[in-house]
Amino acid sequence: MLKNLFRKREYVMVSSRTLNDDSHLPNIPNGKWINCPKCKNILYKEDLERNHKVCIGCGHHFNISAKKRIEQIFDENSFVEMFDDVKTGNPLNFEGYEDKLELNQVKSGLEEAVIAGTGEIKSLKVATAIMDSNFMMGSMGCAVGEKITRIVEYATENKLPLIIFTASGGARMQEGIFSLMQMAKTSLAISRHDNAGLLYISVITHPTTGGITASFAMEGDIIISEPNAVIGFAGRRVIENTINEKLPEDFQSAEFALEKGFIDSIVKRRDLKNYLNKVLRLHGVSENAK
Ligand SMILES: [Zn+2]
Repeated sequence: MLKNLFRKREYVMVSSRTLNDDSHLPNIPNGKWINCPKCKNILYKEDLERNHKVCIGCGHHFNISAKKRIEQIFDENSFVEMFDDVKTGNPLNFEGYEDKLELNQVKSGLEEAVIAGTGEIKSLKVATAIMDSNFMMGSMGCAVGEKITRIVEYATENKLPLIIFTASGGARMQEGIFSLMQMAKTSLAISRHDNAGLLYISVITHPTTGGITASFAMEGDIIISEPNAVIGFAGRRVIENTINEKLPEDFQSAEFALEKGFIDSIVKRRDLKNYLNKVLRLHGVSENAK
């Protein structure tokens, strides 16, 4: 059919398989195109957005903002944000910290590195926290720890299942020991939620490292990860220098963590909503539990 000649293809992709490093890449105008860091194909940004920021060519999962995550996982208009009045101070009077916070607030459109609230996944109500690595690498300071603790406590009081989406470089350096205390605080809240017989699903996304891995990311009754997410505690270089050994290539990947039994499953982003709904139902969460 002649009209098929003019039909817009579902996705547009420019192959650049012969190009191996960024220096050979053509100049991409208008910020409308983006390179996939894995397969090097050039992708049309709008297509990438429509595909939940997963490369159409190789399935590479790009980072996704907390707001996009909410759009993708929760039923339309079901998400209600909570505890957005919790703000970060500067407990150590760390030089330049306020400016850095402000810069990140403007850049990311977020007040902090996590959004907490309640939402519905195919009509099943859950309490949730979604971290965003666009805000100071998703690092956990007092405000992040406090928001997560409050939503966990809210879930416990209201007998709601809990889902936390992690994406973080770890504790927030600028808040020093106060950041580290958040690990114990969030863990205690999660243990109370657990003692109440409630379900906690941890969804690990790229990257989840440091104090987040050492606390709530790994405390889920069910731990799910997106493909190829980096999951670790200390960085590769630190470990290699400490043990004086070369680490395997896939060390700290979701796939490695699955093989070693640290996580329960790897789920592609496009399947995540259905998967979460299924896990919730399997654990007796029903629509009446609102
Ligand atoms: Zn790709």
